[in-house]
Amino acid sequence: MRGPVASTPTAYPGEVLPTPRDIRIRAAALAWCEQLRARWGDHVPAAEARRFPFEDGSIFLYGQQGIFKPRELGDGPLSIRTSLSGPYQDEVRDGGESIRYDYSPRPAENEGLKRLAAEMTPVVYLVQVKPKPAPEYMIVAPAFVLDWNDAARTFEVSYQPAAVAGGAEELRETSVLEKRYGLQVLRARLHQAHFRKEVLSAYRNRCAVCELRVRPLLDGAHIVPDSLPGGDPVVQNGLSLCALHHRAFDRRILRVDEDYRIDVDPAAIHARDAEARRALLDHRGARLVLPPRRELWPDPERLRRVLGA
Ligand SMILES: [Zn+2]
Repeated sequence: MRGPVASTPTAYPGEVLPTPRDIRIRAAALAWCEQLRARWGDHVPAAEARRFPFEDGSIFLYGQQGIFKPRELGDGPLSIRTSLSGPYQDEVRDGGESIRYDYSPRPAENEGLKRLAAEMTPVVYLVQVKPKPAPEYMIVAPAFVLDWNDAARTFEVSYQPAAVAGGAEELRETSVLEKRYGLQVLRARLHQAHFRKEVLSAYRNRCAVCELRVRPLLDGAHIVPDSLPGGDPVVQNGLSLCALHHRAFDRRILRVDEDYRIDVDPAAIHARDAEARRALLDHRGARLVLPPRRELWPDPERLRRVLGA
């Protein structure tokens, strides 16, 4: 049995209408997620995301269960959360149009999500992108439950409400670009978040140039950009770089040859800029700090391609 696909939501049996307070709570959660993303990007520390402020107190954003409803909320679950246990490719459905999410073992949570789908009520989708003990999440908010499949026991979750993604033919026509855009952003965010996790872990959470170990300032930098052939999200196409050295690498102020030697363009640096000399020029001629595992070292062929480009 498939869920609602009509452009007008059909009332789900057992409908629970949100109270004004329910609506305020959900809106506060979405606003909080927006702030978290502005501050932390797609790597929000779990400790920061755990609770959101509401009126004089705070409310849990997610819980132990994957599908979570805080006790303060009456109309249905607030968030769904993945762990790192499965291969992430499974999250994005064929064609990259939405995400599959497994049913909860608790029927009440599944019924709640189906209700929200019928009412096009947004939820918060948290994707774990770093393991314990200090997990990090990519947060997609608002997210919408589009549909479900009782046989496969999966929900279909998207950036877009059901009326746009699965609705009337004319709606589908006019929204196709917007839809594609939103979903590509989602897929790109998922790829990038997992890529960063793999790259940082290979480099033991330090910058390959300066060995900075402040994780929120580290990026998984692509050697060959992901928009080009060969720009796959594999560790061998990545470098763990701090924000400064990542930008310098992308701007070709800092280059790395196929023997992992660092070069810096002196023309980019003012002679009397002591800080730029220390942060950039002093690394000239040094070798990258490489992963302990040889098979995770950057691909020399890709480094050569970028140098020659
Ligand atoms: Zn650095």
